[in-house]
Amino acid sequence: MLCCPLHPKGGCGFARHGTYRRVTPAGTLIPRWYCPQGHCTFSLLPDHLAARFPGTLDEIERVVETVDQAKSLEAAADLLRPDCVSLISAVRWTRRRVTLVRTVFTLLAGMFPGIFQGSALTVADFRLRLDCIVVLAQARHLAYDTLSTLPRPLGFVPPRPDGGGRKIRFQQRMGTDPPAFAG
Ligand SMILES: [Zn+2]
Repeated sequence: MLCCPLHPKGGCGFARHGTYRRVTPAGTLIPRWYCPQGHCTFSLLPDHLAARFPGTLDEIERVVETVDQAKSLEAAADLLRPDCVSLISAVRWTRRRVTLVRTVFTLLAGMFPGIFQGSALTVADFRLRLDCIVVLAQARHLAYDTLSTLPRPLGFVPPRPDGGGRKIRFQQRMGTDPPAFAG
């Protein structure tokens, strides 16, 4: 039986709360649940979908794999998003995915040192260690009990509303925006 991520022991009134329609993959209906004590909704995601992020885990994994194998992030972005209006937006699109997955890999390596000790934190290395071809989907099973504490696209921790400091740092590095902090 499904239980509330905030109250695993139950008793909080956790109940079905309709569905919402995801943009990607188009038309996917995701059942939603509500915890009255925590005042928040949770989505029951099919295993292959990214959490709090468009698309599937496999799509994101393929992006990171391409970056792992490319000369540079820019080269990978150019390859992955020939449809983007500019290389800068392609790089931004690619970097967002890589950053999220590297963060998840780093957290998993810390949570499961027996499996990931000394890992290069690449898709290929994680595939080897998990003995699987789809790392993120497999990792969701591995970390099933702690998904409520893991960030997207694997787990369900909400992203910081301001986008965090990460975004600002990227903008500065790419040199496309004025410095975020003047003086
Ligand atoms: Zn609850």
